[in-house]
Amino acid sequence: MQRDKLLYELNNKASWDLVVIGGGATGLGIALDASTRGLKTLLVEKRDFSSGTSSRSTKLIHGGVRYLKQLRFSLIVESLRERKILLRNSSNVTHIIPFIIPVYSFYEKLLYSFGLHLYALFGFNSTVGNTKVLSKKETLEKLPFVNERNLCGGVLYYDAQFNDSQLCVDLAQTAIDNGATVLNYCEVTDLVKSNNLVCGVVFRDTISNTNYNVSCGFVVNATGVFTEDILKKDVEAYSKIVVASQGIHLVLDSVYGSKKFAMTVPSVDGRVVFLIPWLGKLLLGTTDTKMEEAKEDPVPLKSEIDFLIDSYNRFSSKKITTNEVSAVFAGLRPLFNSSSSSTAVMSREHSIIVGKSGLITIIGGKWTTYRKMAESTVDLIYRRGRLNKRKCVTKNLLLYTYKDKNKSTQELITANPSLAEIINTEYGITKADIVYAILFEMAQTVEDVLARRTRLLFLDVRASVLVSPIVADLLAVYLKKDAAWVEAQLLAYKNLAEKYYA
Ligand SMILES: Cc1cc2nc3c(=O)[nH]c(=O)nc-3n(C[C@H](O)[C@H](O)[C@H](O)COP(=O)(O)OP(=O)(O)OC[C@H]3O[C@@H](n4cnc5c(N)ncnc54)[C@H](O)[C@@H]3O)c2cc1C
Repeated sequence: MQRDKLLYELNNKASWDLVVIGGGATGLGIALDASTRGLKTLLVEKRDFSSGTSSRSTKLIHGGVRYLKQLRFSLIVESLRERKILLRNSSNVTHIIPFIIPVYSFYEKLLYSFGLHLYALFGFNSTVGNTKVLSKKETLEKLPFVNERNLCGGVLYYDAQFNDSQLCVDLAQTAIDNGATVLNYCEVTDLVKSNNLVCGVVFRDTISNTNYNVSCGFVVNATGVFTEDILKKDVEAYSKIVVASQGIHLVLDSVYGSKKFAMTVPSVDGRVVFLIPWLGKLLLGTTDTKMEEAKEDPVPLKSEIDFLIDSYNRFSSKKITTNEVSAVFAGLRPLFNSSSSSTAVMSREHSIIVGKSGLITIIGGKWTTYRKMAESTVDLIYRRGRLNKRKCVTKNLLLYTYKDKNKSTQELITANPSLAEIINTEYGITKADIVYAILFEMAQTVEDVLARRTRLLFLDVRASVLVSPIVADLLAVYLKKDAAWVEAQLLAYKNLAEKYYA
């Protein structure tokens, strides 16, 4: 993944079959599907890949236990099928993870045991582990920090976990390997039309400050909570189709939970709170708060932080305050607008809308179902373009793998032994990891490296600020930037980091 090479490809292609706007899970999934079916595909992302919602998820590939209560069985079945496909095709960034729901009455034990056996059954041949009822003793052995008072036992079930921003990079890399041109820091500023039909886009490369005008057969708007900004460029009167629902996570040290077992706890008001081991820390989340405005860098609300801390303190014998939180991050779910006032019950299924101009807009869905969403969108393109149908191949397509990364970082160290220096001991992050992110994963800023290539900002905000000068210097060397650029990067990073302190 080298930006210069991709820009060269861009300058040497007169037209495209498809332009995808947005480099989150949805857009990258579509670019991958389209390129593997032979469509000449360009994807443009205005900031970094997954810098929107797609790096801020709970990092679960799941059917959604809480959808059982909403009787959303088809969503569960489809998601569990996709979970199996993702575990198989992207085994480097996904794995199975055991969950336990502690129960405090015989009725709860019966209810959750029935529900979770049903959940496993919905997986048919996609099950990843057997659901089991646990005694009080077994529950406490596995979750020793759990509140013992009135504890009746637990129910053990299995789901899957992944590294969301790394999967985005892998999707981008696999799409490029299949012929797509995929660019970050390229913002679509207008749509091009002929006879009222969309036939191209205008975008700006914000790194080189160059404008591009490209023609294409189809444009897909996959811009998440920013969908309406693109719709405005298409039609004057558009209806409000996206609702942004904010969810936050607190990051805790692993001593506040289990390093192996994740935990699901229904909160007092019916919301579900997870405590999940992730990359050596624990994720405590999430919330569901309807927001009036979509922001690029959403900020957690105090009420959301309080809610999660209260929930933790209710189910755990250990107590936490904001002092124990090493980072907090917020994301905005792009939900399809419905009349319901509560975003918690709004549809997590996706919707594809085709405008009069032919602009295709895709909204909603989940990370778990990104592949299926991409398949439906590209099928639609084939139908509308009356193209000779080529079958979707992503069900059996292995995604780009980490093993190549380990080999490349070793090669970087052999060529320059000083790159073996570890800059963060807790996570073993070396200078070679940073250089790899710059040279092969298109990282352009300190934020790209620390938030989405190494994840240090999401794990430990203070530690990430400490290493930011080293990262800025390495970026300056490899991207040929001057001291003023380094200074501006560090200031921007410091300001961003403020939003990640609890
Ligand atoms: C708190 C939370 C927890 C979640 N947990 C899970 C989970 O555990 N499992 C699961 O399956 N799903 C989960 N989800 C849902 C999942 O994260 C989202 O459905 C998914 O990431 C949405 O991806 P997207 O590509 O549609 O949007 P985004 O990731 O937001 O991507 C849209 C992209 O478009 C870009 N863009 C906008 N305007 C332009 C423009 N003019 N030009 C170019 N680019 C532009 C943006 O910069 C952005 O990167 C969660 C969501 C949240 C908020």
